[in-house]
Amino acid sequence: MLARGQVINRLEEQWDVIVVGGGITGAGVLREASRRGMRCLLLEQRDFAWGTSSRSGKMVHGGLRYLRQGQAKTTWHSVRERERLLREYAGLVEPLGFLVPLYAGKRWEPLLLKVGLSLYDLMALRRSHRRYNALDLSLLVPSLRRDGLLGGFWYRDARTDDARLVLWAIKEGVALGGAALNYARVEALLRDRRGRVCGVAVRDVVTGRTMEVEAQVVINAAGAWTDRVRSWTGAPPRLRRLRGSHLVFPRWRFPLFQAVGFSHPRDGRLVYAFPWEQVTLVGTTDVDHDQPLDREPRMSQSEGEYLLEGIGKAFPSLELTAEDVMSTFSGVRPVVGTGRRDPSREPRDHVVWAEDGMVTVAGGKLTTFSLLARDALN
Ligand SMILES: Cc1cc2nc3c(=O)[nH]c(=O)nc-3n(C[C@H](O)[C@H](O)[C@H](O)COP(=O)(O)OP(=O)(O)OC[C@H]3O[C@@H](n4cnc5c(N)ncnc54)[C@H](O)[C@@H]3O)c2cc1C
Repeated sequence: MLARGQVINRLEEQWDVIVVGGGITGAGVLREASRRGMRCLLLEQRDFAWGTSSRSGKMVHGGLRYLRQGQAKTTWHSVRERERLLREYAGLVEPLGFLVPLYAGKRWEPLLLKVGLSLYDLMALRRSHRRYNALDLSLLVPSLRRDGLLGGFWYRDARTDDARLVLWAIKEGVALGGAALNYARVEALLRDRRGRVCGVAVRDVVTGRTMEVEAQVVINAAGAWTDRVRSWTGAPPRLRRLRGSHLVFPRWRFPLFQAVGFSHPRDGRLVYAFPWEQVTLVGTTDVDHDQPLDREPRMSQSEGEYLLEGIGKAFPSLELTAEDVMSTFSGVRPVVGTGRRDPSREPRDHVVWAEDGMVTVAGGKLTTFSLLARDALN
């Protein structure tokens, strides 16, 4: 990567594309634009991946839950992208086994899951799922609740280090001729004589100096901040900000070698516990986020209680309490708001909007970042 000073010296050049936001979406656009031979500059207000892209669930997944909700197109895209990432980023994106236990009392659950997993495999063009009986499943995960356990399904998805994935995509973009500058906050849009967006005013947060940078097109990939950037064109807000939080447990206190998904007893939402680095993560929640955006998002007490209640029921023998939690982290999903009461039912598809010559790309997932980039550039 070029040093900041070298990138700042290049700001006066005429760019084809300026990308606002250095999360996975912006990184994907930088990489794809540079690959297409465009002169592309990415600007990030803090450090790369500071936003949601370092606070995700770290899964590169097809989204089995979306299939359950009838969002088959989202699952199809995600499964295809997962397979591509497993090939292109082998080592950084690695396969992870997922287990879903089945309990007595849910008559249709085994059949529905079997159909869902068969479809999931079909989309990936490979058979990965299999069924375990109760004994085998409790040997695989001894801490699982045993009463009423019928067995469960195993299937294959993948996990990654989200922040490293962002850095890697940015490095690829830079190696292909693009440029990326962190601690560079876009504060306004420039207009040409016809009133169309033709660049940005950017503040170097380190020196406080403001500069004007011109481009053929500005792409707004500002994640949860998307509506703020859009508001500079007079566009009304369209995104619903949903916070998702995770609990972090030390591995010795919550040992797991595969991810385990279970329905939360309170509302039936799918919650995961999974191994990551040297810890076990449990998440996630899905609640409206009304905290100021420039403050670190934080888990509320009720989110913490919700997750602890879920793992208490799913892994009772571990007797995990708030005392065992090493840490928590929260991120904000930029989801296109459709006004549904239950945040978890809001569609997770991405959108591309063009307003006054500025292209906005928002929504989607870490997993589908290449697809978002291609759609925004097309
Ligand atoms: C709890 C949680 C769990 C998730 N789990 C998964 C998962 O397991 N798998 C998956 O595929 N997806 C997951 N997602 C979704 C995924 O994390 C997001 O879709 C993705 O990270 C969004 O990336 P982004 O680049 O659009 O936004 P961000 O990563 O937030 O990037 C936007 C960037 O824009 C910058 N910015 C804003 N305004 C300006 C400005 N004026 N000037 C310069 N820069 C600016 C911000 O600082 C920020 O870094 C999860 C999301 C959450 C919240």
